[in-house]
Amino acid sequence: RVTPRADYHAEYAPAAPPAALPRAPLRLSCVVPAHNEESNLEAFVRALVQAVGRLTPDFEILIVNDGSRDATHEVALRLAAELPLRYLALSRNFGKEAALSAGIAHARGNAVLLIDADFQHPLELLPQMHELWLAGYDMVYGVIADRGAESGTKRVGTGLFYRLINTGKQVKVPPNAGDFRWLDRRVADALKALPERNRFMKGLYAWVGFKSAALPFVPHGRAGGQTSFSMRRLGSLALLGLTSFTTLPLRVWSVVGSLVALLALVYGAWITLETLLYGTDMEGWPTLAAGIMLFSGVQLMSIGILGEYIGRIYDEVKQRPSYLVARDEDHSPWRDT
Ligand code: UDP
Ligand code: MG
Repeated sequence: RVTPRADYHAEYAPAAPPAALPRAPLRLSCVVPAHNEESNLEAFVRALVQAVGRLTPDFEILIVNDGSRDATHEVALRLAAELPLRYLALSRNFGKEAALSAGIAHARGNAVLLIDADFQHPLELLPQMHELWLAGYDMVYGVIADRGAESGTKRVGTGLFYRLINTGKQVKVPPNAGDFRWLDRRVADALKALPERNRFMKGLYAWVGFKSAALPFVPHGRAGGQTSFSMRRLGSLALLGLTSFTTLPLRVWSVVGSLVALLALVYGAWITLETLLYGTDMEGWPTLAAGIMLFSGVQLMSIGILGEYIGRIYDEVKQRPSYLVARDEDHSPWRDT
């Protein structure tokens, strides 16, 4: 049912099929971010080990516990004791973007797989991702082909978000491409080298470029537990994406400001003329009151948008790390060289 299409996002990642590269034998790091996944983690990691084992005997699993409040920690420790697994516990919940960054930063393979812990990303796709990597693609990303199971609000919101973020930008973020990805070592290194604190990963993957292929998939339902992304959290992720990836919202206000100023000029000229020609009495305080209210609203809104950007700048200049590792239980077969 699912077919790989290298040209799926041709307009976002113009990818002539690359010349097949002589790849070194696969050493795969699988990064699994986990936030309150006690009900999925064990089953998922075992299924992942099975699936990856069919591609290569040489792999490590990296569980990044993103400040879970349930038994994820205990489950992960238990698994670490018996599997080729490295367990990183962040010191609190830093968010999925940070958890993925932590995983990428600690991965040691020559390819890195990013995959959710809740079975939503189909393991059946790994062989195809592997093949595309062998064929020379440096990044293979899953694209949600059918959002049928999601609420209307979420679908409309997502559509609007991608429309906004891709307005007039050189680097386009492919719509519906998520964090289900296979990265070559070079891409992982590039992502690792990006210094920003506001890490909107979907933007960063697009920004680093490299030969990419899209693989449409229909996400499974969540196996157990609950999504960590409420509408509110999705909203703030969207805001992060917009403010860290495009300055369009800032420019909008220059245009709005100019238009309003022009209108005011025309209107002013009209009043003057009216008074001079017809001697009309000065009237219209309701217009004044409404105008003042409207434009103070518009001004506050634009200050708010400025504030969003200043907040991001503030985060960047503080130079705090985007995550802290509280515990690093390393049972990976590999050591840092
Ligand atoms: N996750 C995380 N930190 C968070 C929220 C989520 O590491 O703050 C992980 C979560 O455990 C899962 C993946 O990110 O493996 C996707 O999250 P979720 O399934 O809740 O999101 P959805 O699939 O509903 O978008
Ligand atoms: Mg999920």
